[in-house]
Amino acid sequence: MPQRKRRILSQFLASRETKPGRFWATLGLGGMSLFGMVAAFGVAPSTQELQISQKMVIEQLDLPATFQTEETPGHFLREERIQRGDTVASLIARLGVQDEEAFDYMRQARETQAIFRQLRPGKVVTAKTGENGELLSLTFPLNGSADNVLVIERREGQLQAAEQSLNLTAQVFMKSGEIRSSLFAATDAVGLPDAIAIQMTEIFGGDIDFHQDLRRGDRFSVVYEMLFHQGQPVRTGRILAAEFTNQDKTYQAIWYQDKNGQGGYYTAEGKSIKKAFLRSPLEFSRISSGFTRARFHPILQTWRAHKGVDYAAPTGTRVKVTGDGVIEFAGRQGGYGNVVVVRHQGKYTTHYAHLSGFAPGIRRGARVSQGDVIGYVGATGWATGPHLHYEFRINGVHQNPLSVALPTAVPLGIQQLALFRQHAEPLLARLEQIRGMNLALLD
Ligand SMILES: [Zn+2]
Repeated sequence: MPQRKRRILSQFLASRETKPGRFWATLGLGGMSLFGMVAAFGVAPSTQELQISQKMVIEQLDLPATFQTEETPGHFLREERIQRGDTVASLIARLGVQDEEAFDYMRQARETQAIFRQLRPGKVVTAKTGENGELLSLTFPLNGSADNVLVIERREGQLQAAEQSLNLTAQVFMKSGEIRSSLFAATDAVGLPDAIAIQMTEIFGGDIDFHQDLRRGDRFSVVYEMLFHQGQPVRTGRILAAEFTNQDKTYQAIWYQDKNGQGGYYTAEGKSIKKAFLRSPLEFSRISSGFTRARFHPILQTWRAHKGVDYAAPTGTRVKVTGDGVIEFAGRQGGYGNVVVVRHQGKYTTHYAHLSGFAPGIRRGARVSQGDVIGYVGATGWATGPHLHYEFRINGVHQNPLSVALPTAVPLGIQQLALFRQHAEPLLARLEQIRGMNLALLD
């Protein structure tokens, strides 16, 4: 691997998010107390070596020196997933890039045309910016292969672009924490990356409404992968196993991929954790999780026909369809303002009201899959402040989506069950090891 690539990659790692240092806290090197890290942090060399003792988890805290890449103050590294309807402009704006010259360069250079052609939803793009939003580098994954990227970088003031191949290896990390004020306060306290925290809310999204259900004392444990290149963390990987205790009820999820490459999350008993409906239609993020409900309440009290759940969130927050279905209505409708109605499995409908706008392609007859973005939070219709009004109806009758019994997705086939158990056992053992570790040591 040429020296140049190494240098570029180590730059990417210099600082990752708008709050410099959080990423290093993730790796146990930030300004956190060592005690806190001992409590909640573990690393193991590979997925093949799952059988480790608790003692070893703690000893692994002596991280190899290669982790200690110097942090460059004023440099920010951000990861963003391409969304449906994204343009290059909207994508780089979300990445915090404010740089006309870089945008012009991307539009004009022959090497960067792949970016305009390959804006496929789900791809993860990483940008490093300077203090004023100037682009220092950008990595864009190319054609299917996560290991093949286009890197645009500024070298001695000049923008350049080149294809590079990353040779990534996965390492397994483990974290455990307890919620005292908010989910992100808890994940920050143990240095869990945001991308993993959000993955966790998606995995348990069929059982827990992370906007309404969280309570002080809820606990989580996560076993997840980080992808490394030559000893340097490049990005977060997948959650392999997770456990969430919400209001004294514990949910577990194990990632399992069958021999056809179909993967999903299952309970310890091999039941799919995916539900026909998500509990919350609102994207969970740092911003939406901390938004106050106070501003829109009064008008709702006078809206007597009101039969739904309200989620306060900033205008523009993404609204996700809670189940697979077909759009029955997308338009304006009286007090609902801009509303989307989706029909599922014949008798169920879900309603999403007061939207500021609709996602591209959302119109009557369009098919949608659970989790697809269908619109954006707003205050259209009878609303004094931005919020999402959500209704769940069965045969046209309003039901409380938080209490209605929701049908579950297909379970794991019997022939797969033995293989699954073999795979799940060491992961469950790991969850067992780290469960409450921080509590024991901190309290
Ligand atoms: Zn409402």
